[in-house]
Amino acid sequence: MRIAVVGTGYVGLVSGTCLAETGVTVTCVDVDASKIERLNKGSIPIYEPGLLELVAKNRASERLFFTTSLKEALVDVDAVFIAVGTPPDEDGSADLRYVLGVAREIGELIEDYVVVVTKSTVPVGTNQRVKAVIKAELERRGVDVAFDVASNPEFLKEGDAVNDFMHPDRVVIGVESESAEKVMERLYHAFSLNNTPIYFMDIPSAEMTKYAANSMLATRISFMNDIANLCELVGANVDAVKQGIGSDSRIGSKFLNAGCGYGGSCFPKDVKALIKTGDDNGYSMGVLKAVENVNNRQKTLLFQKIRKHYKGDLKGKHFGLWGLSFKPATDDMREAPSLVLIEQLLEAGATITAYDPVAVDECRRRIGDRIVYAPAMYEALEGADAMIVVTEWQEFKVPKFTYIERALKEKVIFDGRNIYSPEQMKEFGYVYYGIGR
Ligand code: NAD
Repeated sequence: MRIAVVGTGYVGLVSGTCLAETGVTVTCVDVDASKIERLNKGSIPIYEPGLLELVAKNRASERLFFTTSLKEALVDVDAVFIAVGTPPDEDGSADLRYVLGVAREIGELIEDYVVVVTKSTVPVGTNQRVKAVIKAELERRGVDVAFDVASNPEFLKEGDAVNDFMHPDRVVIGVESESAEKVMERLYHAFSLNNTPIYFMDIPSAEMTKYAANSMLATRISFMNDIANLCELVGANVDAVKQGIGSDSRIGSKFLNAGCGYGGSCFPKDVKALIKTGDDNGYSMGVLKAVENVNNRQKTLLFQKIRKHYKGDLKGKHFGLWGLSFKPATDDMREAPSLVLIEQLLEAGATITAYDPVAVDECRRRIGDRIVYAPAMYEALEGADAMIVVTEWQEFKVPKFTYIERALKEKVIFDGRNIYSPEQMKEFGYVYYGIGR
């Protein structure tokens, strides 16, 4: 089989590479020529564990190609995947200009039957719009080329994307024709052999499934953050509560960590977009509106704790900050809680030295040199009044507290991810702030 994947971001590059790994010949396309140049030189534009090796392997096997030319990529393909970004528009709805732009280009170029698969996260009705745009282009060209649309939302998570794509809990595919179903069945054959459930459904349900999944996960996080904040007020410990409820098989233990808020390229924008879909249809998504409010408040919680500790005066205070990316194992900083905290601290007159294992370049690209970047984790703490943890990178979890003690002016830790034990911190003589404990 041969496919094209348009967009070589987190989703396009991972999906294309992993499908190549199953034997499919894949050409990945991007308008960003610098990305394609890097990929053709053997490096990758994002940080994603295991991906570099997999790209190299499949390029060497001549199953994975990169180009800026959609025309070239579309030659003899069974399917073309749209995996471009759907960022939030000003009103919170998903901005579909890139998806529909690619649809138009496909309509301008296709010569033979192809299945146009939308992998980007898109609101219900988008596949129909993709279809209409392609049809209009074909009519404009005066040609009659058969094609089908399909929805194949992606559930991978950054930081473990290769593993998620190769071993998914399920694959969701929305189709409206038998021929599209057959193509998609062949494409995911390797996954069926591994007993991965593949759920075929109608297109609107597939589109909705993706939003419902992300919104459910975001809801769990905001719910636990609400519980954590209440735990602090009433003298309960959210860790114990998490154990107590997570062991209930109806609830399950995942996505129950309290912290300083969710970020990333997906949860914030997908929650917003689903709220907007509700509003557009005259229905108020009450739960999700609360989820969003709680999260926005939670992103300011560390700052409130820090300000309270210093009795409202942060002028001249210096902080050592561990973790910039929105979560571990990625350099993605879209909607990262660290960005909110940094702005608040700088505005209050504090200074910051930050360390992150991979997101420093990305942070510098976003906020420049308004903070100092340390090349190593303990160096970030040198001479700081306190240490702040915003991202739970593995290497932060069991640090050398003697180094921390030596570097800090005072033994104060603000832990936005609850990675240290309050009892141990007390034993070591730290003033320690966690969340909900
Ligand atoms: P991204 O911003 O990392 O990548 C998008 C890529 O598309 C960019 O490289 C951009 O240059 C390229 N592009 C834009 N217009 C193009 C065009 N006309 N032709 C060719 N390339 C073009 O985005 P992402 O994080 O990979 O997300 C893509 C979609 O997948 C979004 O809808 C997102 O919601 C969804 N999604 C993302 C994740 C995730 O973890 N990042 C997970 C599941 C689903």
